[in-house]
Amino acid sequence: MESKVVFSGISLPSLQRSSSPLLHSLSSPSVKVRGNNPPSYSISLRYCQIKCKAANTNTKYCEEVSEVLDINWDDLGFGLTATDYMYVTKCSEHGMFKKGELQRFGNIEMNPSAGVLNYGQGLFEGLKAYKKEDGSILLFRPQENALRMRQGAERMCMPAPTVEHFVDAIKLTVMANKRWVPPKGKGSLYIRPLLMGSGSVLGLAPAPEYTFLIYVSPVGNYFKGLNLAPIHLIVENEFHRAAPGGTGGVKTIGNYASVLKAQSAAKAKGYSDVLYLDSVKNKYLEEVSSCNIFIVKNKVISTPSIHGTILPGITRKSIIDVARKEGYEVEERQICVDELLEADEVFCTGTAVVLSPVGSITYLGQKKEYVNTKDGGIAQKLYSALTSLQMGLTNDNMGWTMELK
Ligand code: PMP
Repeated sequence: MESKVVFSGISLPSLQRSSSPLLHSLSSPSVKVRGNNPPSYSISLRYCQIKCKAANTNTKYCEEVSEVLDINWDDLGFGLTATDYMYVTKCSEHGMFKKGELQRFGNIEMNPSAGVLNYGQGLFEGLKAYKKEDGSILLFRPQENALRMRQGAERMCMPAPTVEHFVDAIKLTVMANKRWVPPKGKGSLYIRPLLMGSGSVLGLAPAPEYTFLIYVSPVGNYFKGLNLAPIHLIVENEFHRAAPGGTGGVKTIGNYASVLKAQSAAKAKGYSDVLYLDSVKNKYLEEVSSCNIFIVKNKVISTPSIHGTILPGITRKSIIDVARKEGYEVEERQICVDELLEADEVFCTGTAVVLSPVGSITYLGQKKEYVNTKDGGIAQKLYSALTSLQMGLTNDNMGWTMELK
């Protein structure tokens, strides 16, 4: 007699790749049967294992008891790992985004004349979710990402989700992919919201339709252990990232394609990244390709002020508040490139890099090295204070974290 195993109402022999969130990565399941009174089944899939118990004679109902991901949490880098679900919703040019839905993570279809493909009408965001020891998941200031996306959308002539919609969509997407949130101390789930002109346009104009999409990927700790690995920057003297009146202050996709040339050249010479100067005087610090910059001199912390050409980083804003709370003086002001020579410490901040000390900066062929003190200096103190909050290791008296259960 042929046994029939049912998982969530789906007969195993006819299981389709798309039939279940857990089974989307199914290649060929192996089924082991143990005992016969009643028999228990263990179905091993690529990313998970499902154990089932027979209910009675013909039909056996499955109960999912474990989800074992075939993933080495110690080996995570900052690359894309395909997860289960993405969130998608669309709206028209003058419309409002309706509550979207979760779809299987995968390719999306777009007309070749979509606004985002032809004219770069697109924005993205980036934030992280961390798992606590008790299994709950923490988001860090998602409302700030929502607000920044709204500001960017205004600049790029796009409708944007409300803050509430954005945050709800993030929560839904994270919870649907919760098995991909790395265990405590192993990394985080990187969350990438996208807003794009998906409708077709041929003449230059705002697209007639927009897509708000969120996907996620587990990523590794940028820094292993307590010792923060210093990065090495080169000051870019020819190319500029942004100009007054341009779009440097919003997270539009074009800002990133345009830094690739300088960044690739810097990497080819062994530098970690590029530090940009202002495009008017070519002498004031702006930011790195994907993070903000701080300098420390005599325990006073300074960072370039925000005036439209620098991305207002959420980590930057948080570090300023954390530093002030720890008793440091923090200045937001114009910083001349010459001040790098006098600085005691330099560090960068961003969602991906968290807080990264700078080991050296090269400007016009002259290399300034920053001494890595034994205790890691102010950068280490601020890194610990910020990550303790983000990972739920200390009491969140700033009200910045949002717990998901
Ligand atoms: N500057 C740029 C150009 C960035 O892309 C980022 C990353 N979003 C940052 C700064 C840091 O912003 P945040 O701290 O919000 O990640």
